[in-house]
Amino acid sequence: MPGKTLVLAEHRAGKIKSISWEAIGFGQKLAERLNQELKVVLIGKAIGDLAEEVSRRCGQEVLTLVNDHCETYTPEAYCHILSQVAQQETPFLFLMGHTYQAIDFAPKLATRLGRGFIPNCVDCQIDADRVVFVRQVFNGKINLQVGLKGEPPYFVSLQQGAFNAYEVQSRQSPRVVNLTIPLPDEVLKRKVLEIFQAAQGKVDLSQAEIIIAGGRGLGSKEKFQLILDLAEALGAAVGASRPVTDGGWLPKEHQIGSSGQTVTPKLYIACGISGAIQHLVGMMNSSCIVAINKDPNAPIFSVADYGIVGDVFKVLPVLIELAKEIRK
Ligand SMILES: Cc1cc2nc3c(=O)[nH]c(=O)nc-3n(C[C@H](O)[C@H](O)[C@H](O)COP(=O)(O)OP(=O)(O)OC[C@H]3O[C@@H](n4cnc5c(N)ncnc54)[C@H](O)[C@@H]3O)c2cc1C
Repeated sequence: MPGKTLVLAEHRAGKIKSISWEAIGFGQKLAERLNQELKVVLIGKAIGDLAEEVSRRCGQEVLTLVNDHCETYTPEAYCHILSQVAQQETPFLFLMGHTYQAIDFAPKLATRLGRGFIPNCVDCQIDADRVVFVRQVFNGKINLQVGLKGEPPYFVSLQQGAFNAYEVQSRQSPRVVNLTIPLPDEVLKRKVLEIFQAAQGKVDLSQAEIIIAGGRGLGSKEKFQLILDLAEALGAAVGASRPVTDGGWLPKEHQIGSSGQTVTPKLYIACGISGAIQHLVGMMNSSCIVAINKDPNAPIFSVADYGIVGDVFKVLPVLIELAKEIRK
């Protein structure tokens, strides 16, 4: 299926968001399977260095749209610029992370071009020439398969954590190409005066490289301290299944799963977590999963790279001591 795949990369404070790296990595694999060219699209003000960095890391062509009015995001400017890019580049797919920005501008952009938008996808299946995206509905209980209909481009946003940011490959065609798309006055009707950082918890789980997660198997808030101790010994973030946050053992911001956060750390250690589907959807794309559970038939073992069938109260103290030894 010849053609082109574009991936929009979002950035903040001079850094590409991890969800955009996930989209680039997924886009590379998809474009390869579809035998398509992949280009990354970057919008902003002083983004020359960032574009070079992206191009070097993924070895792909980066299209930059530099405009003084794009120092901060506005839906009007993004819609205008991206609709022009879509018309000039005529991609087959236009991928992006499912971020607040994408939720804001992508439906408007797709509607403006009379095209479809498939939001918050977690997978893609290719059968002969048929491309089908998968998105979850009803809190992750049902997987919906969405086929492509009508003329391309098809706009698709990807769920945070559904794909792995560490799987971005270094291809052989790094290049930065500057496109000039002037913004007409009617697009400049909104001006961002200030950006407030939302109050955040101590831990940003989406960026954590190691997460130690505990479940109901820990038994109580007091015993959950073992999870905190292992996390501290490994310099890791702390995650939890829903019963833990429902029970007030940890604040809600630590919950991982369909009604919590989606994470893709390099290492995820699940302790006393059964592996209900609502939990798995939030962590199953971690690079390496270690599960500790006393039940050998616990579903968590089906996604684990390493499994320890055992009692967390026996295994965790040993791991904590080992971690302390190693980090001495
Ligand atoms: C709409 C909806 C949304 C939901 N969203 C989420 C979500 O975002 N995140 C989430 O996690 N859940 C979510 N849930 C809940 C989910 O269905 C499960 O109930 C939950 O994940 C189970 O948590 P758990 O694995 O900690 O507990 P359990 O299922 O009770 O499992 C405890 C596990 O600990 C093991 N265990 C017990 N004692 C020990 C021991 N001493 N040593 C080792 N292992 C031991 C047991 O063998 C068992 O496997 C949601 C449910 C619904 C209906």
